[in-house]
Amino acid sequence: MIPPIQHEHGIVTLDADYLRPGLAAVHLIVEDGGVAIVDTGTNHAVPSVLAELRGLGLGPEAVDYVIVTHVHLDHAGAAGALLQNCPNAKLVVHPKGARHMIDPAKLVAGSIAVYGREHFYAHYGDIVPAPAERVIEAGDGFRLDFRGRTLSFLDTPGHARHHYCIHDQRSNSLFTGDTFGISYREFDVEGRPFIFPTTTPVQFEPEALHASIDRLLATGARAAFLTHYGRVTNLAELATALHAQIDELVELTRAAPGAGQERLDGLRAAVENAMLRRLRAHGCLLDDATCKALLANDVELNTQGLLVWRDRG
Ligand SMILES: [Zn+2]
Repeated sequence: MIPPIQHEHGIVTLDADYLRPGLAAVHLIVEDGGVAIVDTGTNHAVPSVLAELRGLGLGPEAVDYVIVTHVHLDHAGAAGALLQNCPNAKLVVHPKGARHMIDPAKLVAGSIAVYGREHFYAHYGDIVPAPAERVIEAGDGFRLDFRGRTLSFLDTPGHARHHYCIHDQRSNSLFTGDTFGISYREFDVEGRPFIFPTTTPVQFEPEALHASIDRLLATGARAAFLTHYGRVTNLAELATALHAQIDELVELTRAAPGAGQERLDGLRAAVENAMLRRLRAHGCLLDDATCKALLANDVELNTQGLLVWRDRG
């Protein structure tokens, strides 16, 4: 795990201890002795969250809100477990995701279908249901008064239909889950981040994702906190890179020849090549094997998600 990063305005990026260090983050927003947690990681993240709270001189009762950008398990897997640990916390979730937090059975089955049973239980464990009376559904335009600090919610489909992003007015920053792509710090070159979109199964919708990225940009936010991984700035430049890559992935998918395993393998190789080419153009000096290893999980998920989108017609 990489050490917590303290930002201004009481924001902390915490390593969720998922798959490898620096892959997935839990964000804390601390305001007036209270805490809002944005994205929870999996159950493995719970001890780190509680330890970080202790380090801040706070107990689990200081957590007012557990906010999940969407209900994919690297973002929401520990929501129920955190509610168990934090007696005053309410869960804030997209209206299309709420029922999956209250009864995770379908979510669990869907994740096993994507990741396989062995991976599922090793990385996610048992998903604790959220008590319905502690769930707040945050639709588009919802505003949360978090101890006088306004958090605004924007419906942002494209990665998933149960995805919102949060605009924090105090810091003029966004918490973007997976809508504003992925940017691993390993790929930074002289402080410049490398960013790419995530097209994970099963609700990737390119037009919606383009529109959501533009909507995020229109807030005028000066920074975004990505679940994968941490704070980025210069959002207009990053949005341009995301738009171009969404278009490129769509084109590669439309052009993918063959069927079944052959089509999957071919598209996977094309997606990986496109990302490596962009990394080189970015100035990344890591060797191919290192880049491929860092990207392997996303290349696989993006390829699968693109084909699910393509086959939906
Ligand atoms: Zn994610």
